[in-house]
Amino acid sequence: MIIVMSPGATAQSIDDVVSKIRAAGLAEHVSRGTERTIIGAVGDERCLQESMFGLMPGVERALRVLKDYRIVSREVQPADTVVHVRGLAIGGRALQVIAGPCSVETPAQMAQAASLVRAGGATLLRGGAFKPRSSPYSFQGLGVTGLDYLQQAAREQGLPVVSELMDVRMLDTFLEYDVDVIEIGARNMQNTDLLKEVGRINKPVILKRAQCATVNDWLMAAEYIAIGGNHNIVFCERGVRSFDPAVRNTLDITAIPLLKRETHLPVIVDPSHAAGKSWLVPALACAALAAGADGLLLEVHPAPAEAWCDGEQALDGAAFALLMAQLRPLAQVLGRTLA
Ligand code: PEP
Ligand code: MN
Repeated sequence: MIIVMSPGATAQSIDDVVSKIRAAGLAEHVSRGTERTIIGAVGDERCLQESMFGLMPGVERALRVLKDYRIVSREVQPADTVVHVRGLAIGGRALQVIAGPCSVETPAQMAQAASLVRAGGATLLRGGAFKPRSSPYSFQGLGVTGLDYLQQAAREQGLPVVSELMDVRMLDTFLEYDVDVIEIGARNMQNTDLLKEVGRINKPVILKRAQCATVNDWLMAAEYIAIGGNHNIVFCERGVRSFDPAVRNTLDITAIPLLKRETHLPVIVDPSHAAGKSWLVPALACAALAAGADGLLLEVHPAPAEAWCDGEQALDGAAFALLMAQLRPLAQVLGRTLA
């Protein structure tokens, strides 16, 4: 931590800061300039709060040097992490496409969805059984029955599944139904108790970005999971709330290279929830891969007009196949592969 003293700071206030640094078990480095004194607290500053110094007499401000996350940072692990899901690698050279409907509706809908996403080249099947809807009057998901339909459809096509966990109390059920990848949705990115619980298991976790979370907030959320021992974390950018009602959310493309620099963990992008409209999805998907994403999470429904949830942003089978055909040459240019 760096403590910047005010221009007229007394010798006593400087001594008080030094004493406080020593009391915390750190060493001081005092730099006396012509106008002001700057004091460095040398050692692991994580035990210090900025306010511990910022509120002392003679102190202008205190600044942290170390980041609030450690395990997920590239500083600690320079090499990329590859997250393995039943033989698939997320974060390697191969791009992974997770596709499927927003919510699980019926066995027939899931069977059709699974068949068409697999035919198009998706490598994992998504489907929400527990839906965090904005309105309590909207369809909330089929619950456990939804997990059952999702797994039935996925097994028929040999695809691993991704589903959203909203409540700590359902974690055992997700394990019982062998959900291969647990999605933590945008609305729960800062549910620290939920993050801690998924940190204690060894299933891969997709951590979506909250609508108003900074990249730093998001990295700290991942650290909550990692600290429990589960390092199989995949970040998923899904758009942030902006001032423009033209789109559901604004896809933050910048977050992809930012994360790639800050963390060794894989980063995927969900253009569907960003766009809110299916016709916008292909352009955003291309942009995401070009910016360095390791994969995509796409909403695909056999009959979007009949969807119980998020139909407007869902690609139908033909649009999905077309998009995948568009992405393959792009992947090649980028030195990646796509199924
Ligand atoms: C979803 O993936 O269906 C979903 C609800 O996404 P988000 O949490 O990004 O809104
Ligand atoms: Mn959705």
